[in-house]
Amino acid sequence: MSASTKYIFVTGGVSSSLGKGIIAASLAKLLQSQGYKTTIQKLDPYINVDPGTLNPYEHGECYVTDDGAETDLDLGHYERFLNVPTSQANNVTTGRIYQSVIEKERKGEFLGKTVQVIPHITDEIKNRIQILGNSGDYDIVITEIGGTVGDIESLPYIESVRQLQWDLGEQNTLVIHLTLVPYLSAAGELKTKPTQHSVKTLMESGVQADILVCRTEHELSDGIKTKLARFCNVEKESVIQSIDASTIYDVPNLMLDEGLDKVVLKKLGLQSHECNLEGWNAFLTKHKNPTAEVTIGLIGKYVELQDSYKSILEAFIHAGASNEVKVKVEPIHSEYLTASNVVDKLKGLDGVLVAPGFGERGIEGKIKAVQYVRENNIPFLGICLGMQMAVIEYARNVLNLEGANSTEMEEGTPHPVIDLMESQKTIVDKGGTMRLGAWACNLLPDSIVSEVYGEAVIMERHRHRYEFNNSYIEAIEAAGMVATGVNPETNLVEIIELPNHDWFVGVQYHPEYKSTVANPHPLFVAFVGAVKKHHQQKKSASMA
Ligand code: GLN
Repeated sequence: MSASTKYIFVTGGVSSSLGKGIIAASLAKLLQSQGYKTTIQKLDPYINVDPGTLNPYEHGECYVTDDGAETDLDLGHYERFLNVPTSQANNVTTGRIYQSVIEKERKGEFLGKTVQVIPHITDEIKNRIQILGNSGDYDIVITEIGGTVGDIESLPYIESVRQLQWDLGEQNTLVIHLTLVPYLSAAGELKTKPTQHSVKTLMESGVQADILVCRTEHELSDGIKTKLARFCNVEKESVIQSIDASTIYDVPNLMLDEGLDKVVLKKLGLQSHECNLEGWNAFLTKHKNPTAEVTIGLIGKYVELQDSYKSILEAFIHAGASNEVKVKVEPIHSEYLTASNVVDKLKGLDGVLVAPGFGERGIEGKIKAVQYVRENNIPFLGICLGMQMAVIEYARNVLNLEGANSTEMEEGTPHPVIDLMESQKTIVDKGGTMRLGAWACNLLPDSIVSEVYGEAVIMERHRHRYEFNNSYIEAIEAAGMVATGVNPETNLVEIIELPNHDWFVGVQYHPEYKSTVANPHPLFVAFVGAVKKHHQQKKSASMA
């Protein structure tokens, strides 16, 4: 019931990149494991309507939900931790807030009033915060506010939190402030002053932090906790230490040890129960005790930035645990991969994943990588652009269609084996106009994928404008590549396989978005399984 939904706000202070998303997801995990239906929402203070048009160098990976929202990568963490799908309502930017207020103004909905930040923008923010709570689906909504307190662009959000605390009542809202307690090695001390200042900055906007979560490299002593409590107006039990962890998946247990869930529930007037983290801990045990290590090359053009392929890296962690192996991911920059160095760079790998992407940069390197793994029977998974590159490689080198390409890279290619989707041909705007979200796909019996999924029809998430050009299907299938997954309505090819190869699968969709701790993605699990087998075969061959 919406009246009883509790709202937790997570703000950040002192520095960016403290991991608000992981803290929010970990707290949500603890609350969920005690039976509370919990969801998490992210409010981003930038003016882009969504991160779909942002370069990964700016903002990391763009995460896509079932309902086709292009969102912040923190939503990926929420899904991976909670195993509950998120939606458009879980990510709101300043751009979207302003867009809807301006649209209402143009329709005359404000009846001649001057439209202002307060109340119009703040009302819109408050409505967006309450959409999930009002759905009746959740007991607790955690709202993560992007940016750092004190930023000009965060002000309307903090003001909305202040107002909501009044509107909803004290017991129904809670503010957690995530800060940094730096260690000064010259002084050999942890310093509380930056936290004191950031709590003060929050107070200048009329918001008092109820709980402090303090990121730190060293244990917070009792004295430091007392000091923080005294200067920041919180109880000592509300000063929670968040020490650096070796994996993000340790954070729920660390927060449990610190009693974050208990203080939160107490302050919200809710009962605290035993946490059921059985499945979670079983995953952690496997993750931390691998029986072997395999190396998978990740071929992409943003590999220098970890966040660009966040969901892929996390899906490998889940699939590694399922297979009881450690997946070492070797980033390989496609732009610098050439015919003369491809053998050197790929020969030691147990498997290769060719990453999604847009535009021409680095694609010839991706094609070279596909050729090498195809000819050397190395397990291969191509995702989106990676699948398209596999089709191009096959067309060029097996069907001898010289100059075969995607019209995304070369409009006048003599063999457009990958072409713009019909539905995309009239589209001009770039934002939110790709083929997005979950679409059905029929699987061909007796294929790798039908065995992997164990289902005849699957739903997977998409984000692309180009597709396999069906006028080449007969020629390509006659040469040995098989379309093993097809959209039932449009006939779009969603999956290709090479039956005469040990494990070669390309998918037009993004399986990585749906991999969670509780539900590692079957395709990643099967790929890592094939990689493990390849690794073992190589090892026994070298010992023979
Ligand atoms: N650029 C390709 C397309 O739009 C692939 C997109 C992707 O890899 N997500 O079809």
